[in-house]
Amino acid sequence: MKLICIGRNYTEHIEELQNEKPTDPVVFLKPDTAILLKKQPFFIPDFSNDVHYEVEVLVKINRVGKYIDRKFTHKYYSEIGLGIDFTARDLQSQLKAKGLPWEKAKSFDGAAVIGKWISKDEVDNVNNIHFSLKKNDNIVQNGNTSHMLWKIDELIEYVSKYFTLKIGDIIFTGTPAGVGKVIANDKLNGFLEDKEMFSITVK
Ligand code: ZN
Repeated sequence: MKLICIGRNYTEHIEELQNEKPTDPVVFLKPDTAILLKKQPFFIPDFSNDVHYEVEVLVKINRVGKYIDRKFTHKYYSEIGLGIDFTARDLQSQLKAKGLPWEKAKSFDGAAVIGKWISKDEVDNVNNIHFSLKKNDNIVQNGNTSHMLWKIDELIEYVSKYFTLKIGDIIFTGTPAGVGKVIANDKLNGFLEDKEMFSITVK
């Protein structure tokens, strides 16, 4: 399975990193080895001094598809989740400056947190879900899927032009503003509406 991640999908986050607003979604992949194993702490890798959390809504693909038309994208997922796209920001900045791929900064072991899943029928509208991240019990990120530049169905249509989507693939839909650094002993808790979706500690 693969993790398909979207960058720069919320205007305020684009502004906080002083990135250009894209004309197409920014897409990158994480391998399955990036998934943080259940109940394990997140270990800050020794090659970075500035690892950031990025809370993101996740979509789990439930059937195989390629070139999926926007009319049918809703049939390709039945569950929504929440996770973190951990990013070694210092390394990513160096790679960006040289125009190099981001994988070393984003796809290292443990860099993908995948929380619980809920049926999309449990939410009234996937394009209006509130989500948040608490660090040490303080809210640091607040988002709503209504603020995505590309909505979930548009993302499925877009990425399926490039990659065949397979059962179990997961789309990370981008992070809202408020990203920041983690240090040892931080505790991160993610919420979709008022439901806790994950709880992890940093080592
Ligand atoms: Zn991200």
